[in-house]
Amino acid sequence: MAVREVLKMGHPTLRVKAELISQEELQSPDFKQLIQDMFETMEEEQGIGIAAPQVGISKQVAIVGIPNENPRYPELEEESKNSDEEDDFTILVVVNPKVTITDPETSGFWEGCLSVPGLKGYVERPKAIRVDYTDLEGKPQSIDADGFAATVFQHELDHLDGVLYVDKIADKTKLSFMDEYLEFIENEGAEEDDQ
Ligand code: ZN
Repeated sequence: MAVREVLKMGHPTLRVKAELISQEELQSPDFKQLIQDMFETMEEEQGIGIAAPQVGISKQVAIVGIPNENPRYPELEEESKNSDEEDDFTILVVVNPKVTITDPETSGFWEGCLSVPGLKGYVERPKAIRVDYTDLEGKPQSIDADGFAATVFQHELDHLDGVLYVDKIADKTKLSFMDEYLEFIENEGAEEDDQ
């Protein structure tokens, strides 16, 4: 296992659509290694999600951390492949995902990104989505997410389309350096985790 370098905004790999992953590739040692390395990198960088393009692999796979306090998805805990030891998040590995918006009304959260270090930005996104994806065993899965979980999914899955959260900040005054965010904004109940 190894922590991989996280690409930063400006690197062209972050800006292209990632390739679909075949069933064959899912079973390959290289792919299993990639997943292990993504987990280790996410942990090292203290993120709550990471997408393969962020470690330089332009493939459609992301790790997504879903806050456990969301009572609508108790079933997630049983299905989770890897649970954070702190138990704050349920972790899903999502391959070849397709997002369907189930509630186009928006909700806004302050987002951060391992590829955009030191900054926070306020992004409004559809507040409920369904994600159809393939799991690590190659089986089709579907999950509904709303609130912050929906934002985490959309943020991570945008990486697979070459999109960064900064692209989606409608009000450019709501982009802040971390120190200023902590000093002036966080007390308004914003979210804190990088993705
Ligand atoms: Zn990100």
